[in-house]
Amino acid sequence: MKRVSILGSTGSIGTQALNVIENSGTLCVSALAANSNVKLIEEQIRRLKPQKAALFSEDKAKELKIAVADTDTKVLSGEEGVCEVAEEGDITLTALSGSIGIKPTIRAIRAGCDIALANKETMVCAGDIINREAAEHNIKILPVDSEHGAIFQCIRDEGKSVRKILLTASGGPFFGKTAAEIENATVEDALNHPNWSMGSKITIDSATLINKGLEVIEAVRLFGVKPSQIQVLIHRQSIVHSMVEFTDNSVLAQLGTTDMRIPIAYALNYPERLENPASALDFLSIPPLTFAKPDTETFRGLALAFDAIGEGGTMPAVFNGANEASVSEFLSGKCTFGDIARLVEYAMSKYKTVKNPSLETIIESDLAARRCVLERGKTV
Ligand code: NDP
Ligand code: MG
Repeated sequence: MKRVSILGSTGSIGTQALNVIENSGTLCVSALAANSNVKLIEEQIRRLKPQKAALFSEDKAKELKIAVADTDTKVLSGEEGVCEVAEEGDITLTALSGSIGIKPTIRAIRAGCDIALANKETMVCAGDIINREAAEHNIKILPVDSEHGAIFQCIRDEGKSVRKILLTASGGPFFGKTAAEIENATVEDALNHPNWSMGSKITIDSATLINKGLEVIEAVRLFGVKPSQIQVLIHRQSIVHSMVEFTDNSVLAQLGTTDMRIPIAYALNYPERLENPASALDFLSIPPLTFAKPDTETFRGLALAFDAIGEGGTMPAVFNGANEASVSEFLSGKCTFGDIARLVEYAMSKYKTVKNPSLETIIESDLAARRCVLERGKTV
């Protein structure tokens, strides 16, 4: 049995991963981590009997320790607890949300665990460092994001012959709208994704198209291509999960239903393909497949992502940190939907890129960008 440690076990990806693992016959859970959801992680501990479990919140970890005192699971807390959980598997699924995933991912790599990477923000902020650490420790980074899972399957060992990555995007709930129409969009409207059911942060990112921007940067880091080799295509049906054009003009695509258990299972079982609880695609009942150019004037955040990766150094971390802060401001009613991309642009304009940054510099840039958004320009 391959031992899987899950960071973010109570979230959208985490719970779907547990469903995959419990149906696999080849995978088992070694450790679990979440932020504060005591009730759900307690249920998971009783069901899956991991060696370790951690909650980032110290108070909630104390509650959990009491709640599962009758089990053999060791309860840990705080950032260090989450890092210890990260080190516990043959493979670590990074399914927590945000740049908080950087340190545990590095700890997992250094402990010799392969990485099933859902937590794209880590790759966006610190991709160069993650790639270096993975090469040094002979670790595989297996993408879970559906588009990157698709690209990974299309490229296989033909990286040298890739001309272009065709990164598909659903377009989110506001496809076809003008900037004026979405300026004051409500949280409820922005959370109403047409095709995927996901955590709230990534769902807002999908509505701004900043998710696609993060994925452009993630693809540059994972596949070693230039930003100019990536073309974003709006594909409303989310059936083609992405494509790769090769130097001979052949295009390979990966298709499937909109069920994250398919890319999760592929990453966890790689290089094997196993039976999956998700349903198969029925070509006689799917709608026509369409492809269109994204509107980067209305969805400015996507253009900003290309600027951030073009600039390189710490700028992707600034882009990401400013976005994380703006999304939580929007979710708590402190800024408009239209403000999200404006605040990201503002933070990027205030911050000077540092080239070849250390991990500490990346983390400082992330914090500076968040401060810049929260203080709305008083200081950087
Ligand atoms: P959710 O918000 O549903 O879940 C986040 C998980 O992370 C929860 O288990 C949460 O715990 C945990 N968590 C948050 N902060 C911490 C912390 N400091 N320490 C430990 N655990 C923490 O997010 P998703 O599952 O939607 O997304 C997770 C990641 O996967 C993101 O990076 C996202 O971009 C990426 N992704 C998601 C997809 C999807 O379909 N959902 C598709 C592709 C990528 P708690 O419940 O206690 O708060
Ligand atoms: Mg995706």
